[in-house]
Amino acid sequence: MLTWKDVMDFTVNKNPSPDKRIEKTEEQWKELLTATQFSITRKAGTEMPHSGEFCTSYEPGIYSCICCGNDLFDSTIKFDSGTGWPSFTQPIKINAIKYLKDNSLGRSRVEIQCNQCDSHLGHVFPDGPEPSGLRYCVNSESLIKK
Ligand SMILES: [Zn+2]
Repeated sequence: MLTWKDVMDFTVNKNPSPDKRIEKTEEQWKELLTATQFSITRKAGTEMPHSGEFCTSYEPGIYSCICCGNDLFDSTIKFDSGTGWPSFTQPIKINAIKYLKDNSLGRSRVEIQCNQCDSHLGHVFPDGPEPSGLRYCVNSESLIKK
């Protein structure tokens, strides 16, 4: 199980290697994605809270990257954070996600990206429920449910 210490180590040292890499040009991503999906996943956008289709959905399933299909989260580790964004306590596996320091907006945060295609997913915070204490705060638009 990943903890905040692991997340910090990834941002300072090195992220886990993905199983494979998916790389496309900006034009290729534009063809594959809606305008909203493109601006969030490829331009680090954020959807309005409570707007996403997965905010209040708890049906069983796997949440994957909308860009490349990489499996990211399982419905069993989804929880209601009250923030208006889908929230999870762990990735589906350690190397599914990469962690990057984000000092935009005058705050020190940790951005999360798909480790296969660098799609922007959201941020991870150290205020989640036990036992991991992690809250992965993810845009619905970054996800597709299988
Ligand atoms: Zn991806």
